[in-house]
Amino acid sequence: MITQEDFQTDITPTWCPGCGNFGIWLSLKQALTMLSIPNHRVVIVYGVGCHGNMVDWMWVYGIRGLHGRALPLAQGIKLANSGLTVIAVTGDGDCIGEGGNHFLHAAKKNPNITVIIHDNQVYGLTTGQASPTAQKGLETKSTPQGVMEPPVNPLSLAIVAGGTFVGRGFSGDIPHLTDTFSKAIAHKGFSVIDVLQPCVTFDKVHTYEWYRKRIYKIEYPMEKREALDKSMEWGERIPVGVFYEEQKETLEDREGIDGLPLVDAPLGIPTRDLFISVFR
Ligand code: SF4
Repeated sequence: MITQEDFQTDITPTWCPGCGNFGIWLSLKQALTMLSIPNHRVVIVYGVGCHGNMVDWMWVYGIRGLHGRALPLAQGIKLANSGLTVIAVTGDGDCIGEGGNHFLHAAKKNPNITVIIHDNQVYGLTTGQASPTAQKGLETKSTPQGVMEPPVNPLSLAIVAGGTFVGRGFSGDIPHLTDTFSKAIAHKGFSVIDVLQPCVTFDKVHTYEWYRKRIYKIEYPMEKREALDKSMEWGERIPVGVFYEEQKETLEDREGIDGLPLVDAPLGIPTRDLFISVFR
């Protein structure tokens, strides 16, 4: 029987006390347990940021990529052995800033991987500069007068680019986040969950209390246009839940390697072309 302890190392996390990363870590372990996925069948690719330190306290196969490059690595691993559960754990800056181009192209190709974005609006690891998802007006070390332009919205981007499962969670609501992660990991295709994750050290505006006053839950996925509209709702009310889901041919389906380690795939698959297309 698979338990949550199967996913835990004996290393104590070094995140700041109260960091929203703890809720994501716990929810991810619970989701993998609920789905009964053995730890040796899970690969997590991390970007660079506070989130990436999780590599030391998740007992699964883990790799920490270059800044912004978690998604090409995750896609490569999935193509090499599509029988594995492959998850990219990234930050808002890592995924949408340095890795923005990879994010768009991964959504378009629809590989069967899950992307978890630790969205705290700042680069916490480098002491709190504004990230691409920082709200207009947020004062940070790099924006002492406040961020001057509107933020990038990861949900809207994912929906428009072709993502087939798009959701948002809050790291202060573990049961709901666990449920959302479970649905995303079980989904066949490119699933994205943007997690509202308070950085208690470098963002004194978007606190747990700030989010709790505004968050409400949507119950069911919507049609694409409605999901897009809903993804832009922000301010006094902030929706969380699964915004959009559809079933569509995955990258692995197209290449005829679904569920197969590449080494066991029948000859004739144009693997050279396939890898060029993914890593470009
Ligand atoms: Fe968490 Fe912010 Fe501390 Fe990083 S700096 S560990 S994101 S609270």
